[in-house]
Amino acid sequence: MAFFDTLTKVISETGHTVVNKTKDIGEITKLTARVSELERKMEQTYKTIGKLYVEHYGDNPDEMFQNAVASIKDKQKKIAGYKEDIRILRGIRKCSACGADVESGSSFCSKCGAKVEPNNVVADVDAIFADDEAAYAEPEDDMEVMSDCEVEVDVYEEV
Ligand SMILES: [Zn+2]
Repeated sequence: MAFFDTLTKVISETGHTVVNKTKDIGEITKLTARVSELERKMEQTYKTIGKLYVEHYGDNPDEMFQNAVASIKDKQKKIAGYKEDIRILRGIRKCSACGADVESGSSFCSKCGAKVEPNNVVADVDAIFADDEAAYAEPEDDMEVMSDCEVEVDVYEEV
């Protein structure tokens, strides 16, 4: 029967491939590495597209991107807040003349030389961490965002 003839042929060819063509294993390894490399580069490009979208259309995103953009903007806002907290905790001030950061303990700006007022602001650590806890108490919205815009994002490590 033609079907069994074909099946036998396929099986023997498959067997031939696996048993006799050991050099193919090298080729497979090479190709698998190329696939991985291209997938990695593609992920980077996807990421770039996402960043470009937020930069260019973030103020007025299409409906299907609204939740994802809002999620990014929320995180940007939190990051800016935490960075400000870090500045306060480190006692870093802004030079009133040029806007450069002035380390705690310095009386003059290292960039423009202007005299800087002593830092009388004492960081309220309890208030900062109370804010953080409030922020963490907000519901995690990433899953919602993903299902809403029907985009699956694999978590992969930064290179
Ligand atoms: Zn200055």
